[in-house]
Amino acid sequence: MRTIRTIAELRGYLKRARGQEMTVGLVPTMGAFHAGHHSLMRAARAEHDEVIVSLFVNPAQFNDAGDLAAYPRNESQDAAEAAELGVDVLFAPPVAEIYPPGFSTSVQVAGLSEILEGAERGPGHFAGVCTIVTKLLNIVGPDVAYFGQKDAQQVAVVKRMVRDLDIPVRLEALPTVREPDGLALSSRNVHLGPDDRIRALALSRALKAAEDAVAGGERDARRVHEIAAAQLRDVDAEYLAIVDPANFDALTTIDGRALVAVAAHVGPVRLIDNVVLQPVPVAT
Ligand code: AMP
Repeated sequence: MRTIRTIAELRGYLKRARGQEMTVGLVPTMGAFHAGHHSLMRAARAEHDEVIVSLFVNPAQFNDAGDLAAYPRNESQDAAEAAELGVDVLFAPPVAEIYPPGFSTSVQVAGLSEILEGAERGPGHFAGVCTIVTKLLNIVGPDVAYFGQKDAQQVAVVKRMVRDLDIPVRLEALPTVREPDGLALSSRNVHLGPDDRIRALALSRALKAAEDAVAGGERDARRVHEIAAAQLRDVDAEYLAIVDPANFDALTTIDGRALVAVAAHVGPVRLIDNVVLQPVPVAT
C-alpha cells in the first residue's frame, strides 16, 4: 500500500489504473479506524481492482474548534490496518492541499441539511461534508463510494447531492458495526470513560426498544418515541426522531420503512446512532 499526499500524484496513479479499465472503489474517512471502517474497506476490496481510502479530518465540517482539535488521529496505525486489509492507496492530504488559499466554494443541499444533525451542528456541517465528498469524488472518480449507515443523514444528504448534481458514482451504504453489547463503533468512543461507556448503551437500548415496540405491533410514532425516549434518561439527549429514511420527513404512523435516529452527549462525547425499522404484519 502506498500513502499519497497530493491530488496530482493520486490522479497520476489512477490514470494508469483507468488505462487498464480497472474499477475503483473509494472509502472516505476521517481516520482513527475501527471495525466500521474495516467493513467498508473489505467491501471495497471485494468489489474493485483499485481501493482508495481517504484519510482527512475535514475542518469544514466541524462547528467547534475544540472538537476538531480533540478528534482522534493515528495515521501510522491507520496505514498499517489499511495495508493489512489490502487497500491500494491511503490518500492522506494536508489541509492546504484540499483547501488552498483562496478556496471559496461550498456545496449545499437545502432542507435535508438543516434538520437533526444539521440543526445541532449548524448549517455548515453538511455543507462541509458535501464539499469534501464532491472534491474526493472529483479527485478519485470512483465507480463506487462506500459510506456507513451509522451516519444515516450523511448518506441521505450525499445521495441527494449525487443525484441532483449528476455525479457519476454509485453509493453503497453498509450496516452499522457494533460492539457485542450494542454500542455503535465510533472513533469518538475512545474518549468515553468507564462510567460513560456504560451510560452510552442508552442509545442502542432506545433504538432496540423502538424496534421491539414496532415488532410487537405498535404503529403510532408518538408512542414508539415515548417508549424509546424512556431509555435516554441517563444521558443528555439532543434529539430522538422517527422519520422517513429517504427524505427525513417526520412520521406519525409507522406503516413502511422508518428511521429512528438519536443523538446524545455522554460525558465529553457526542454520540449518534440509528436503526431502520421495517414493520411486518403481526400474526393475530
Ligand atoms: P468517519 O471516519 O467517522 O468519517 O467515518 C468514515 C465512514 O465510516 C463513514 O461513511 C461512516 O458512516 C462509516 N462508519 C463510521 N462508524 C461506523 C460503524 N460503526 N459502522 C459502519 N460504518 C461506520
